[in-house]
Amino acid sequence: MPHWLTEEHTMIREAVRRFAENEIAPVSERLWEEEAFPYDIWKRSGELGFTGLPYPEAYGGGGGSWLSFVIVLEELARVDCAVANSLMANSSVASLLNAYGDEAQKQLYLRPILEGRKIGSIGLTEPNAGSDAANIATKATLDGEHWIINGAKTFISNSGTEVSGPVVIAAVTGTREDGRKEISNFIVPSGTRGFTTGRKLNKIGWRASSTCELHFDRCKIPAGNLLGTRGHGLRQTLTQISTGRILIGALGLGILQGSLDRSRAYMKERTAFGKALTEFQSLQFKLADMATHAHAARLMLYDAAAARDAGVRFDQQASMAKLFTTERAMEAAHQAIQIHGGYGVISEYPVARAFGDAKVLEIVEGTSEIQRMIISRELLAQ
Ligand SMILES: Cc1cc2nc3c(=O)[nH]c(=O)nc-3n(C[C@H](O)[C@H](O)[C@H](O)COP(=O)(O)OP(=O)(O)OC[C@H]3O[C@@H](n4cnc5c(N)ncnc54)[C@H](O)[C@@H]3O)c2cc1C
Repeated sequence: MPHWLTEEHTMIREAVRRFAENEIAPVSERLWEEEAFPYDIWKRSGELGFTGLPYPEAYGGGGGSWLSFVIVLEELARVDCAVANSLMANSSVASLLNAYGDEAQKQLYLRPILEGRKIGSIGLTEPNAGSDAANIATKATLDGEHWIINGAKTFISNSGTEVSGPVVIAAVTGTREDGRKEISNFIVPSGTRGFTTGRKLNKIGWRASSTCELHFDRCKIPAGNLLGTRGHGLRQTLTQISTGRILIGALGLGILQGSLDRSRAYMKERTAFGKALTEFQSLQFKLADMATHAHAARLMLYDAAAARDAGVRFDQQASMAKLFTTERAMEAAHQAIQIHGGYGVISEYPVARAFGDAKVLEIVEGTSEIQRMIISRELLAQ
């Protein structure tokens, strides 16, 4: 661990590790098999103050730092990345509501998701617009005192559960002078007429994190459910997404550390050719690589989170940390399976489940290709 972490960071890590080992690990395999959203764990995460940790106490948050929240997600993902993602995706919505919501919106929509009574979703991606988010087609039309929304979203985390809501969606509200789409963000509460949750997607990773399609068919919401300024939707999302990248990086770090811990334990107990696996240098080197990558990833992520806490620019660090950590997590998950041999591909082994989880991390919150584009664009602009 970095030597400069405080006692508070250590205490948070110990508390989350206890929770993850005692309350999540015993049910993790069942959640994966059944693709079941863990209602009890979500509620407990709220009670323990994890869901809203870096948000203002005035809205039910914990008033903590982003660095502490990174540690929370890292420790949760070390045991179960899908559970960690529920907190991560919830935080993406919370970031938008906290930064751009008015007082009434914050009390009504932000407070319940920070306290773990509800779980929030962010609805940006559409069947024909993922990386190219400016190409969304969902439309919102102002009709007197209401917005009428038509369109569809897909891959939406935290949708389709009994505690889902609200969802913040991006929709086209007009055309700019330069011909580009004007995009705005809207808060759509669960249960709104014309808003339905579609198919639940069957995934190779993040299986206990519910991911669904959303449909909007003449969905009518009050004009006051516009989030912030009309036409600022994409700008709002892109401003908050760097924080999301640090948090996805934290999930990757959890997988890296979990792969290392499980591989080391397995190598100590398993024998081949009359020797413990720990005696084979080819496997020792895999551990050395995992530990080195985990250390580097941790420094990158904690630095980006500390920059976020200090209020200085951190977008470039966030992209680099997300890119590095998630790709190293994928490698570590791959090597952990190799170390476990045949057992490594059996879903009752956490290393098997972590493999699918790690793959998702290279795609969400901007794919690896998009991170490289962002990093190189800034380099070349200097
Ligand atoms: C499990 C899961 C949960 C998710 N949760 C959410 C959520 O809660 N809310 C939400 O809004 N979205 C969510 N997403 C969607 C996610 O953000 C998108 O999948 C992601 O942005 C990539 O978009 P895409 O899938 O359309 O791929 P595409 O954009 O179609 O990309 C396909 C490939 O082309 C590459 N590519 C695209 N453009 C370029 C380029 N210019 N240069 C080089 N390569 C390029 C990509 O890197 C990728 O390799 C989730 C996705 C998954 C899998």
